[in-house]
Formats: sequence, structure tokens, C-alpha cells
Amino acid sequence: MSSATYYIQECPTCGRSLQVRVEYLGKKVVCQHCAANFVACDPSTGQCDPVESGLGLLTRVDELIENASRVTAGLSSSSAGDC
Ligand SMILES: [Zn+2]
Repeated sequence: MSSATYYIQECPTCGRSLQVRVEYLGKKVVCQHCAANFVACDPSTGQCDPVESGLGLLTRVDELIENASRVTAGLSSSSAGDC
């Protein structure tokens, strides 16, 4: 029985779709297009490097929300000061 299974992952450097063997999950692989090194991860199973992708995005979103709420608070407090 051949159990070679692949999944598609985008190269974080050049953005091309790569076929990565599932046995390379969590291991360092080399992009065939741009020769960049990155850790293989399958988004559908959630086995991604948290520092690389998920947490980084969440942190950015949190920062954006914080900035937005600060701007809103600044506007309301300044208008209250005018009163
Ligand atoms: Zn690449």
C-alpha cells in the first residue's frame, strides 16, 4: 500500500503553491521555486508554527483594534473637554 500523502501549502516567501508530504509536517522544508527554508505546516489540521502565522496575525489584529479604540476614546474625551 502506498501511503504517500501530500497537501498544498503556499510558500511564505514566494507565495507559490507547493506539494508537501505530510511526513514533513513540523519539519523544515525547502521551496522548490525560490529555495526558501520554512517549516511545513498544514492549516487544515492546525499544525502550524504559532509564532510564524496564527499568533502573529492575531496580535496584529489586536493592535489594530486597540489603536482604533484609542482614537475613538481620544475623540470623545476631547469633545467632552470642549463642553
Ligand atoms: Zn518559495
